[in-house]
Amino acid sequence: MERTSAAAASGTQNPLLGVWQVPFGLPPFATIRPEHFRPAFDAALSAHRAEIDAIAANRAAATFENTIVALEKSGRGLDRVANLFFVLTGAHTSDEIEAVERDIAPLLARHANALYLNRALYGRIVDVYQARAALGLGAEEARVLERYYTRFVRAGAALDKSAQDRLAAINERLAGLGTQFGQNVLADEKSFAMVLDEGDLAGLPDFARAAARAAAEERGHANKYVITLARSSVETFLQFSARRDLREKAFQAWIRRGENGGPTDNRALIAEMVALRAERANLLGFASFADYRLDDLMAKTPAAARRLLDDVWGRARAKAAVERDDLQKMISQEGGNFTLAPHDWRYYAEKLRKARYDLDEAEIKPYFQLDKMVEAAFETARRLFGLTFTPADLPLHHPDARAWDVTDAQGKHVALFIGDYFARDSKHSGAWMTSLRDQEKLNGDIRPIVLNVCNFSKPSAGEPALLSFDDARTLFHEFGHALHGMLSNVTYPLLAGTAVPSDFVELPSQLYEHWLEVPETLQQYARHARTGKPIPKALLDRLLSARTFNQGFATIEYTACALVDLDLHSLPQPDALDVPEFERKDLQRIAMPAEIVMRHRLPHFQHLFSGGGYAAGYYSYMWSEVLDADAFAAFEETGNPFDPSTAKRLRDYVYSAGNLRDPADAYKSFRGRLPTADALLKKRGLVDAG
Ligand SMILES: [Zn+2]
Repeated sequence: MERTSAAAASGTQNPLLGVWQVPFGLPPFATIRPEHFRPAFDAALSAHRAEIDAIAANRAAATFENTIVALEKSGRGLDRVANLFFVLTGAHTSDEIEAVERDIAPLLARHANALYLNRALYGRIVDVYQARAALGLGAEEARVLERYYTRFVRAGAALDKSAQDRLAAINERLAGLGTQFGQNVLADEKSFAMVLDEGDLAGLPDFARAAARAAAEERGHANKYVITLARSSVETFLQFSARRDLREKAFQAWIRRGENGGPTDNRALIAEMVALRAERANLLGFASFADYRLDDLMAKTPAAARRLLDDVWGRARAKAAVERDDLQKMISQEGGNFTLAPHDWRYYAEKLRKARYDLDEAEIKPYFQLDKMVEAAFETARRLFGLTFTPADLPLHHPDARAWDVTDAQGKHVALFIGDYFARDSKHSGAWMTSLRDQEKLNGDIRPIVLNVCNFSKPSAGEPALLSFDDARTLFHEFGHALHGMLSNVTYPLLAGTAVPSDFVELPSQLYEHWLEVPETLQQYARHARTGKPIPKALLDRLLSARTFNQGFATIEYTACALVDLDLHSLPQPDALDVPEFERKDLQRIAMPAEIVMRHRLPHFQHLFSGGGYAAGYYSYMWSEVLDADAFAAFEETGNPFDPSTAKRLRDYVYSAGNLRDPADAYKSFRGRLPTADALLKKRGLVDAG
């Protein structure tokens, strides 16, 4: 209702404000301009504010219906414009969009403050919550009520006025800083392009040359080659380039994103964000931000997360030391008179992998075509959950993006899935799942619109897009998140899809990666781009037996980030923090191997600072890996990786269940018990020998 009246009041042709007449409820991408967003946000924010005020001011006694259900039904117009806007800020931004983003981030924070610090509204939620035992609520209603109550308390609804004012100011400031952080990283990435000539390409296989060529064409460098700071570009270069000087140059640019001085330097932003987060936690009665954050997650305490990380860290260091010695030996055997440096690791690891397993990324890559891997991910979803994916020709946010209509075994519409796979300058680095619309049943049977956004190298026109095995794993990972959104089957939006604790949210994604490695999937879909022949059995065996190769390095690279994150956010009063000094000292404390650099150094650690999604929560990937390794073992124990009854339990308690249950209960319902770390250690090859 509010949407139409706002559109009428503005009297303009703003397509964001009207009814969207596009199939599946997609936004009218063709007519949307950056300048439409600010008025659309203003209208949607004031409409939602009016809804909230009406709920809070209701004279009738608070009931589940007039408070919780009413809140759950509110804000749809805002969801619609915000979801769309944040798809664009991540996947296809511009100077104009970035300017709106800087304006809008504090406004959204102020809006959230007005909701969660609304005393009258909180009073009504408390009334319902205290009466809950007598209300005869169903399990989902009880869960959504408890979630509202907890959210409001954790947001500061119960604090006095002065504490609330300070919290509100902190939240707004954090929102602005988070936006700036992400924009700075993108700016540093865009400003770097290593332009090379034919003579600089020693060691690069054909696919890497082709990708570098395409990147050069896109930037208007005729007959040149360009290496960018997109992970798939720079990592491939580090893996293959025989030019130690160029590897060092690219690597230095990569690890210095966000700390180059000038307007895009993130160090001061981090110090301020960490201090503000700690202050907020203190106001809410917690010793540190990590204590505050983990209190409402599956781990519950920083100590529990740390126990897992410490256990893995010791084993990973031992394995990485063996790997380092092997690489150093290789350097000496080649007559190299230098010590292995961080910019050498990937190059020599690739050589050793080739020597030891007769495996060569350049030999593997033609078997991993993007389109075939997308099909493989779809086929896995068909076998596990009965889903079918039909291409849908729809106008999307960028010509590279593609859409599929997703239906179930009965032909019923389940979701719209959008894949946006190629790197470009207008896209933030990394890979993620997001949505334009989430599932719910409160306002009718609403089915979700889910996106996967990746940064794979775009091929030249007419060439097939090829993935590394890691890229293929990323594709399956993000598709696992997408399924978590698409299969969601709950009533209340608050509980839908991926709205689960952050140390549980990586279970559906990481678990899905296991199906990429199922031999029958690979035999069917890993087909050579030119010949169409399936990957030879011998090559496949070698590929799979090399899975634990270099896992010491990979585990160190990740776990160091998780430990530094936890330590940084465990500081009780991090005032005047010297960020580089903290990072250096903390790495020293955990005895970081000198030859390995954190996967994300603090100045560009977007999980922690571009928004706060994983702040004090980067451990979640490892925590979830305990779950996913243990969960896949449930399939292995049946002897069938697609075992129907295990798949049904997985769907019922994980993929379709959103946040209906406490994560530990959900997992127990699926597995019959809580997980153990055994399968994780085995998967990473970190089990003690003998
Ligand atoms: Zn993920």
